[in-house]
Amino acid sequence: MNKCFKLEFTKYVDNSNKAEVKHLIFDLKNIYEDGSWDIETIKLLGEDAILKGIALEIYDKENNLVWSTFEDEKVLSNSTLNEIKRNMKSIDSKWNGNFKKYKIENYDNDKNIVGYSYIGHYESTYYMENDMDFLNIMNKFIIIIGVVSLAGIILISIIISKSISNPITKVSKMAKIIEEGNYKNKLDYKSNISEVKELIESINKLADALNEQEALRKRLTTDIAHELRTPLTSIKGHLDAIIDGIWEPTNERLISINEEVSRLSNLVDQLRNLEKVDREKNKLKIESVNLKELMQSIVYNYQSKALEKNINIKYESKDIEVFIDKEKFSQVIVNLLVNAIKFTNYKGQICIKTYLENGYINISIKDNGIGIPKDNIDYIFERFYRVDKSRNKDTGGIGVGLTIVKSIVNAHGGDIFVNSEINKGSEFIIKLPNNIK
Ligand code: ADP
Repeated sequence: MNKCFKLEFTKYVDNSNKAEVKHLIFDLKNIYEDGSWDIETIKLLGEDAILKGIALEIYDKENNLVWSTFEDEKVLSNSTLNEIKRNMKSIDSKWNGNFKKYKIENYDNDKNIVGYSYIGHYESTYYMENDMDFLNIMNKFIIIIGVVSLAGIILISIIISKSISNPITKVSKMAKIIEEGNYKNKLDYKSNISEVKELIESINKLADALNEQEALRKRLTTDIAHELRTPLTSIKGHLDAIIDGIWEPTNERLISINEEVSRLSNLVDQLRNLEKVDREKNKLKIESVNLKELMQSIVYNYQSKALEKNINIKYESKDIEVFIDKEKFSQVIVNLLVNAIKFTNYKGQICIKTYLENGYINISIKDNGIGIPKDNIDYIFERFYRVDKSRNKDTGGIGVGLTIVKSIVNAHGGDIFVNSEINKGSEFIIKLPNNIK
């Protein structure tokens, strides 16, 4: 700003100095009238000119001095020119102070040359006292504006940096708290900066997710320990009795031990299955599948299992093309069908239907089995949840089948719903968006 201002001001001063010289030249036309020099006017013009840094010398035709600023206004010219020199040196120590002179001819009324006027001033731009005052005031203003702006910028920077660094410090403290295993804490900090808001939300979500995982891990450990203990106690009891010679290792006893071992291995298989689904739920191998054919082949495979309990499976479907991970989705249908067979009494009925409704592909698996009590319905999709452990004792499940079902259906962008009434039966309905690819 300062540089621009000085440049513009120099141009302005140069122009106004040139204008002064032009005025003087114009006025000097009328200083010889009626055969003599008008000394009064010359004096006035000379005084006025030197106050603006312009010296004037007038000689007649014979080169005799008529009037000179340096003679008649010696004191004023010395002080003015010295003042200019001082001013300019204070701005630029290399200022050369060269003088420039113009020669103008003076005429009488008949246009005859009567003498010469010499106008002189410093060659390079020069400032008078009032120019210097103006320049100094402007400099002061610029400095004040600069200082105020700088202070403002520093203040704004501090405010902005604080508004960013404060929450970041809080988030980093929260991260340390989380690192120490305190997942229940929440970062309660409001910020207007959207990135900071997102960061706070993310750290809170992270804490929630870790808290959920921690609870799950604890529950998983307890559940697995519990599930493993029952068959292991039974096997150990049998084996202890046989080793102590209390029981004979008869075929029936060995078969019973073998059944418990099978239960254990089934349990481990299901756990592995659950872990695999969790790990791969975001890696679907989507392909175009004819839903009718897929369901048909699953029904065929489980028909014999249903017949063991004299259960009739009814199946109706239209040709519907779906985009699904065939292998994973087959597991969904198998789990639901196996449950329906498991929880339906002898001579029961299972109806499977696939149909389109409101832009959704619906798959309904309905049985007239034992049903699910109302207050249990909300929990059946949770891991290791079984309605009543005693009623499921012989069904071999560990309560992960529906967890797997929900996880796979959700990964396909769909959802699953249950209608169930105790002793009347249950209906599981899968809804898949029709446009999934
Ligand atoms: P499990 O491996 O024990 O079958 P699931 O997650 O598949 O576990 O099911 C959870 C619980 O939901 C079951 O233990 C059972 O009590 C109940 N359930 C699931 N399907 C049915 C059904 N068709 N009829 C009645 N109860 C059911």
